[in-house]
Amino acid sequence: MEKIVVIGGGISGFAAAIESKTNDNEVIILEKENSPLKKLLITGNGKCNYFNEDFTKKHYYSSNKSFIENIITEENKIKVLNFFTSIGIIPEIKNGYYYPYSNQAITIKNALLKEAKIKGIEILLNNPVTKITKQNDKFIVKTKEKIIEANKVIISAGSKAYPKTGSDGSGYTLCEQFNHTIIKVLPALVQLKGEGSYFKTLSGIRSKVKASLLENDKIIKEEVGEVQFTNFGLSGICIFNLSGLASKGLYEKKQIKIKLNFLYNLGLTKEEEFLEFLNQQEKLLKKRTISDILDSLLNYKLTNYILKKLNINNDTLLENLSNSKRQAIAKELLEFTINIAGTNSFENAQTCEGGVSTLELNNKTLESNIVKGLYFTGEIIDIYGDCGGYNIGFAILSAILVGESIRGNHD
Ligand SMILES: Cc1cc2nc3c(=O)[nH]c(=O)nc-3n(C[C@H](O)[C@H](O)[C@H](O)COP(=O)(O)OP(=O)(O)OC[C@H]3O[C@@H](n4cnc5c(N)ncnc54)[C@H](O)[C@@H]3O)c2cc1C
Repeated sequence: MEKIVVIGGGISGFAAAIESKTNDNEVIILEKENSPLKKLLITGNGKCNYFNEDFTKKHYYSSNKSFIENIITEENKIKVLNFFTSIGIIPEIKNGYYYPYSNQAITIKNALLKEAKIKGIEILLNNPVTKITKQNDKFIVKTKEKIIEANKVIISAGSKAYPKTGSDGSGYTLCEQFNHTIIKVLPALVQLKGEGSYFKTLSGIRSKVKASLLENDKIIKEEVGEVQFTNFGLSGICIFNLSGLASKGLYEKKQIKIKLNFLYNLGLTKEEEFLEFLNQQEKLLKKRTISDILDSLLNYKLTNYILKKLNINNDTLLENLSNSKRQAIAKELLEFTINIAGTNSFENAQTCEGGVSTLELNNKTLESNIVKGLYFTGEIIDIYGDCGGYNIGFAILSAILVGESIRGNHD
């Protein structure tokens, strides 16, 4: 009987075990922690946003883009949704974002545990894998306590993101033992640190913006959403979605900036449009100060900060405000520029940029091109997605593709 060892009892490891199990094989999950699926429980603030209707390649990143194009397809989208249905998950879909109907991540944890139990999958906790070798077509998997022989091994050990969930980067060492290339691993879906001391003043502000990520003064990605100022920089989903590319740019010693347009949702993107807006307000409203006008658009802390920065008295009547001052305000509101000094650490990151190079994987089965019978799933691979269910979506898809290959494409 063929024996399959899955390293890592996270969501991709469980899905890979479930998808690989047949009546004719034995599947064992080796998990280093004392309980499985720790990361899953904290996803989506405990509600688990597990999928997104817009399952398209534009939401995924890898140093090998063609790999993404091969696997993020309509056909594979249906397979992922069928997987969740097959383990008993009923979705609640909010604007295309999928959550379990119970709105609790634990529903998905329990469904995976139940399915694994029904299928007869063995789960060994407190068993960190420290070494894997291959001798005469058999893998020898060593944990702290055991030595297990296996015909196939699936490495589902996560990344370095949120190490307190067990995902501490030890999986990369196992991959390197088989000469797999690890693309530089950096924090992604994480807060950005800004240069300068003004963040303490702005901390707590939330604003709807268009955020542009600039690498050496060239825009490389834009996001619309809510930005949050913290006492060290920026947070919020739109910032998280720019953070992986920011991480990479900083690592490559590029100059990274974020530009915020606070008036994007008002339809104002150009200086002349803002100047026209001020003219209209001047005609409509008498005896208003510039502070009155800006406070109707921005958090008062931001108004005060911008006016102080530009040396403009808050009580200046709009009718007395010079054209050059109006232009300077337009620049701050439409292109508020933050120099990025770094990202928060792996401890705060939801996933990682980088990982096992996809150039060394079969793009249909995720089997190693270097070692036959060795497979990879989930976050350990050099692919990650935006916030919004894309990472769990990929974790499940990778597990399905591995399972299809191990089952020989049939049940
Ligand atoms: C705070 C937070 C919120 C998130 N929210 C969402 C969300 O709402 N939607 C979404 O799509 N994604 C979300 N993510 C990302 C998502 O959780 C991950 O992409 C997903 O869990 C990856 O699954 P995985 O199985 O590849 O890795 P993991 O879930 O990290 O599992 C890896 C497992 O391997 C084990 N392991 C590691 N090394 C070894 C070893 N040497 N031996 C044995 N076991 C080992 C670990 O203990 C762990 O249990 C979030 C992440 C975080 C941190």
